[in-house]
Amino acid sequence: MLICTAILNMSTNNTDSSAIKRIGVLTSGGDAPGMNAAIRAVVRSCAYYKIQCFGIKRGYQGMIAGDISRLGPRSVNNIINKGGTILKSARSDEFRTKEGRKKAFEQLIEHEIQGLVVIGGDGSFTGGMIFQKEFGIPVMGIPGTIDNDIYGTSHTLGYDTALNTVVEAVDKIRDTAISHNRLFFVEVMGRDAGHIALNTGIGAGAEEILIPEEDMGLDRLLQSLKRSKKSGKLSSIVMVAEGDKIGKNVFQLAEYIEENLPDYEVRVSVLGHMQRGGAPSCFDRVLASRMGLKAVEALRDGISANMIGISDGKMIFTPLDKAIKGESTINRDLVRVSEIMRL
Ligand code: ATP
Repeated sequence: MLICTAILNMSTNNTDSSAIKRIGVLTSGGDAPGMNAAIRAVVRSCAYYKIQCFGIKRGYQGMIAGDISRLGPRSVNNIINKGGTILKSARSDEFRTKEGRKKAFEQLIEHEIQGLVVIGGDGSFTGGMIFQKEFGIPVMGIPGTIDNDIYGTSHTLGYDTALNTVVEAVDKIRDTAISHNRLFFVEVMGRDAGHIALNTGIGAGAEEILIPEEDMGLDRLLQSLKRSKKSGKLSSIVMVAEGDKIGKNVFQLAEYIEENLPDYEVRVSVLGHMQRGGAPSCFDRVLASRMGLKAVEALRDGISANMIGISDGKMIFTPLDKAIKGESTINRDLVRVSEIMRL
């Protein structure tokens, strides 16, 4: 992945960094495992630097409503291992309007909050960026989404946990596929990006992997499954990302294959929201802890309008506008690995 590293002097506001005494933290968009670990890290880093930390409930909607309360180091006991987000998450249409954002700003003024840490996806970063431009409140972003579809980081929070959840589920599906000689279509999350399908497809030994970045075509899929059957495979797993390019949903795909490959008994499993839940992996907990600390230190140092990411094991900054617009590309080497491994 090409990563843009932009360090220092990214602030678009004139707040004296050392004057930051109150920081707000919120989670927005879809929840992801590791969000709680990130909240904990923000709260405890604030305490370390003697900054007062405020939890804003239900994302931007809670900010508009003034659902804001003080969080101290003991408020975040025993959450590092919990999925979801103690601050709750929400999508807010009101925040998309100038009036809504003005109400949110007034709430921050009321609580004397001088900087924001936004944990969420690219939509949340877009909102945060607009908010900073309009009202001068410094914003730092932490990428929290299981899809790993954000430019500027090799890993988003929750992605590693989701991979492990999916692989565990597909291992179980494989047991039943083998016992009944079935062909399973397993749909995983990833409307715009195939990271989950590609990695879990390789990790769980799937015969085929359908991702939004590649149009395999129905005919090629059919031929490939025929070859696979001929080569002696009695059961198979096809991993399908939600947004795969063939243009049929997973049930239509299964129907088509069953009609054209009557030797197989075809089943569909849509993993759905279970991919978002569960205790975060150790990787996500460590990543969240590092990102939370870095976000607070950035605001303290006068850096804002940036997202924290990880690249080659190091914490890096990417300006929010680049993180939003940039494309998170799949690893082509993995596509090659998957093609060879299905033989
Ligand atoms: P996920 O990856 O899980 O979808 P996300 O952060 O991209 O997470 P969105 O629903 O796109 O989720 O955005 C979250 C919230 O951010 C929205 O509900 C809205 O309040 C705010 N937001 C998104 N886009 C804008 C925008 N253009 N202007 C103002 N606010 C926005």
